[in-house]
Amino acid sequence: HPALEQAARLIREVPDFPEPGILFRDISPLLADGEAFAAVVTALGDGLEFDVVAGVEARGFLLGAAVAHARGTGVVGLRKPGKLPEVADRVDYQLEYGSASLELPAATISAGQRVLVVDDVLATGGTLRAACELLGRAGAKVVASSVVLELTALGGRDRVDSDVQALLAV
Ligand code: IMP
Repeated sequence: HPALEQAARLIREVPDFPEPGILFRDISPLLADGEAFAAVVTALGDGLEFDVVAGVEARGFLLGAAVAHARGTGVVGLRKPGKLPEVADRVDYQLEYGSASLELPAATISAGQRVLVVDDVLATGGTLRAACELLGRAGAKVVASSVVLELTALGGRDRVDSDVQALLAV
């Protein structure tokens, strides 16, 4: 798709962030470009039916809210610890360096809802795996985890329990 190829050119490669030896892909310039942002928002979740979008903090919030609005659904932010006044549930998981957690806000997801999970980048898959676990425990059905960019060499897709929809892959 030409609009997505154009959008891909706006992703920056930043060496040695957040740790020496890591090549970080920064989608901030893509988000800042109107045509590129529209192209990825239209493509995320395209062809899928869902009742609500769950965006992963923090860039997943920007994308997830736009997808939800475009499709007429609500949006839920899956948050890092310490931000929410009322936590429905929490999943702790391992990162390449250290550990992390995601929390589900109270009174957001009902059992049986079909959820589209949205994030910017799929790396090792730990984050999307945790997001799916959190939503699954709430009784939701994750129809897919949708990302702008998949880092295929890390094999993260295999760790995610839902289908994975990646608009771009490197
Ligand atoms: P994973 O859990 O290893 O798959 O890492 C995915 C999470 O870390 C996502 O929430 C991403 O926002 C973030 N992340 C990991 N690597 C990158 C990257 O190269 N660029 C942008 N975000 C990244």
